[in-house]
Amino acid sequence: MSNLDDLMRSARKLRYAIAEREVTAVDAVRHCLDRIAAIDPPGGTNGTSGANTGSEHLNAVRETCADEALRAAEKVDADISAGKTPGPLAGVPFLVKDNIVTTEGTTTAGSRILEGFRSPYDATVITRLRAAGAIVIGKTNCDEFAMGSSTENCAWGPTRNPWDRTRVPGGSSGGSAAAVAAGLAPFSLGSDTGGSIRQPAAFCGVVGLKPTYGRVSRSGLIAFGSSLDQIGPFTDSVRDAAVVFEAISGPDPADSTSGDVGVPDCLRQLDEPVEGLVIGVPRQYMSDANDAAVNAAIENAISIYRSLGARIEPVDLPLTDVGLSTYYIIAPAEASSNLARYDGIRYGRRSAGKGFASVDELYAASRAEGFGPEVQRRIMLGTYVLSAGYYDAYYRRALKVRRLIKAEYDAAFSRCHALLGPTAPTPAFPLGDRPDPLSMYLCDVYTVNTNIAGICGISIPAADLAGGRLPIGIHLQCRAFNESTLFRIARMHEAATDGARRRSPLAETVANR
Ligand code: GLN
Repeated sequence: MSNLDDLMRSARKLRYAIAEREVTAVDAVRHCLDRIAAIDPPGGTNGTSGANTGSEHLNAVRETCADEALRAAEKVDADISAGKTPGPLAGVPFLVKDNIVTTEGTTTAGSRILEGFRSPYDATVITRLRAAGAIVIGKTNCDEFAMGSSTENCAWGPTRNPWDRTRVPGGSSGGSAAAVAAGLAPFSLGSDTGGSIRQPAAFCGVVGLKPTYGRVSRSGLIAFGSSLDQIGPFTDSVRDAAVVFEAISGPDPADSTSGDVGVPDCLRQLDEPVEGLVIGVPRQYMSDANDAAVNAAIENAISIYRSLGARIEPVDLPLTDVGLSTYYIIAPAEASSNLARYDGIRYGRRSAGKGFASVDELYAASRAEGFGPEVQRRIMLGTYVLSAGYYDAYYRRALKVRRLIKAEYDAAFSRCHALLGPTAPTPAFPLGDRPDPLSMYLCDVYTVNTNIAGICGISIPAADLAGGRLPIGIHLQCRAFNESTLFRIARMHEAATDGARRRSPLAETVANR
């Protein structure tokens, strides 16, 4: 394995090597761009007819920005040579989900309606990562406007799972998860409204963090469900997740919902033992409806934590399964309002049709051509539950249930430091396996309530039991703004299972060349 291949698995080690001038930032960026060109060359924006949408194309990376990235890397190297103190991610290349705006390249949110859209500004997370020295190298594929659990609802074709290309990578941040799992970049950013970071992290065998609502600025994240959306990292390790988390977190005047809360020094507490911590296992999470391998992986995690000295407590969260119906009212309601801005006039695509009798006809034609079927379904659902006749019956009621879900978590966290369960009921499923939207929505049963309650959650790879062919994710949740405990508990599992961790065959093959 070359030194760079090895370093690419750890943002922290790579940064250290760059700061010590063992490798240059330019080498690191070139290495990632070469790997992307070799393994997953972007097919351009015309996904359906592009040369790279053949049946086996990974399609995780939609676009790279080589020139800008190399220029930024040269600047990092020059600053280090000039003796400036390198930032905590100096020279580390990363990929960005296509619904987070960057001044490099285009941002499409996986939608034709934003085809070719260039942002005049950077999202706050991008500004912060640049300040930390990290380097944007491109954009990753996602479900259109982050609506989906498989990265199949995408105008530029589906993304495939690097563990098994006949399967989905999960979604909606499937491109970002697949890219890290395939070793295309040391880390990437995703967004999580109901599970879109944690579920693809589970399906691709990497670490995925959804920070507490309000912890990370949403400025520059294309809005889906504004009271639920959060940006977070995909990484190979818990430590790297903590490094990226610290770099992107903290209050931001550009996002009035960002919390005025200081960012904890998570790294300092990371290796503290879990002895004496109480980990709750909600009865509802260990359902017989889960895949047997998923339940076995969670049982194994429970015994690992027990052997590390944590106390395992049974917990009751009876509202677990109403989370889905609550989420699928609140998220579409907010989406229908957020997506009203795509009218074919102010942003992106306008219908090329002629002879419209009114501006309304132009709006309708542009939106009908620009939005895919899932987005149209959500807009209809959302406008329905917000309409005068149904507001009380659906939307207002969902808000009440939201409060009850939050209260249920509060009660659990008065007894436990964290909650443990599966990230998703099954491992990655085959492409095309869930044509019915309702069966797709069921993927989110264990993740949506984290967003509904605004708390934090992380998915970490389970130990590989008996050479399982597909990865399984362990889901940990902690109370709001308690990411330091979340990382610490996640790290203990990771440290205890390091030897039993496999990486995607794609990452191994290339790394072992
Ligand atoms: N799968 C969920 C949905 O389709 C969650 C998406 C997300 O977290 N962005 O709404």
